Parts: sequence; C-alpha cells; structure tokens
Amino acid sequence: MTYVVGLTGGIGSGKSAVADLFAARGALVVDTDAIAHGLTAPGGAAMPAICAEFGAAAAGADGALDRAAMRAMVFADPPARKRLEAILHPLIRSESERRLAERPAASPYAILMVPLLIESGDYRKRVDRIAVVDCAEATQIARVMRRNGLAREEIERILAAQASRAERLAAADDVIDNDGELAALPPQVERLHVNYLALARGFG
Ligand code: ATP
Repeated sequence: MTYVVGLTGGIGSGKSAVADLFAARGALVVDTDAIAHGLTAPGGAAMPAICAEFGAAAAGADGALDRAAMRAMVFADPPARKRLEAILHPLIRSESERRLAERPAASPYAILMVPLLIESGDYRKRVDRIAVVDCAEATQIARVMRRNGLAREEIERILAAQASRAERLAAADDVIDNDGELAALPPQVERLHVNYLALARGFG
C-alpha cells in the first residue's frame, strides 16, 4: 500500500511548482492533469470513445482532442461536459491507480495531484491526507494572466466554478503558502516531506 497525499489548489496557485519540489525529494508524483492530457493526445486511450460519443469533429487532424471544438460543443450543449467526463474520469482514475500501484521502492510515498480534489468526493476518499497550495485570488489571477494571456473575466469565471479558497483551506491537512516568492516554497515542502516520510513509515 502506498501512502498517498492529495495535492490541490486553484488555477495558477502553484501546484506544479510544489509537485516538482516533492518529486525532487523522491516522492512519486502522479499528475491527473497530465494523465488527462495523455488520454486526449494523438493516439490517446480516450480518443476512440470520445469520437464515438461526439463524432469525428471532436478530434483534430492529428487525432488529438480538438479542445476548441469540444468547448464549442459544451457551450452549445452544457450536458455534453458530463458525457465527456463520464468517458475521461474513469480512465484518469484507473491510470492514476496503475501508477500508484507501480510506485518505485525509492519513492516512500506518493503525491496525487488533483486540481479539483476538494470538489470530488471520490478523490477525497482516495487520499490519506490533503495538502493545499494557497494564495490570494488576486495572485492566481495575475499569474494566469501572465502565463496564459487570458482575460481577467475569463479567469474569474474559472475561479467561480472551482471551490473557494475558504473551502479548500477547510479541507486541508497541510497548507503551503504560495503568495510570496518561489524561494519560500522549498522550506515548506521540506518540512512536509519529513512529515510524510514519517507517516509513510507507519503506514500499511
Ligand atoms: P494550473 O492548475 O493552472 O495548471 P498550478 O497550480 O499548477 O496551475 P503553476 O503552474 O505551478 O500552478 O504556477 C502557475 C504560474 O505561476 C506558472 O507560470 C508559475 O511559474 C508561476 N508561479 C508559481 N508560483 C509562483 C511564485 N511564488 N512566484 C511567481 N510565480 C509563480
């Protein structure tokens, strides 16, 4: 059995930056977003089912999910999102489980990165502990504007569809403050890593 820490946080909060620091200390990082991307990449395992459900127009010329076409379908028919999720979510879950089960002996515990962990009862049940990357909404907005060039209103819409900062903090066992410099992260991650090593030793 693997001791699994769920790592979450809102858009642009710094989950990837934090996950990299855990990986550098030897944790196995399983990133559900990266798995979702792989499933919908050219030749991805979800593509046949997605094209069967939504038609060939759901895929681009390269065979990857055509995100713009899919967004347009979901915009025109909001329940289409649920149909897409019904295909993707079980595949993401089973691939995550496969990777967790194959944890190398050198990784004493695993970090399961789930952007919408707080919103998902299944993932909350699956993890042994929840670590939240926290920062102010204004910081999230500034970072995502810089990274993706999205309009402020668009980011605010995404934030409104996610759990609130307070909801995430209420569910957290551990909080990583990422409102400051990137240099403030390693000492926080180091402290948690030492704790997770101890928890993993006493586990299973
Ligand atoms: P998403 O869920 O949106 O993919 P995330 O939570 O994984 O995001 P990151 O990708 O780690 O967040 O960070 C978002 C952006 O903000 C990146 O461009 C990253 O380089 C930058 N960033 C993260 N933390 C800091 C920080 N403390 N100071 C400055 N920039 C930061």
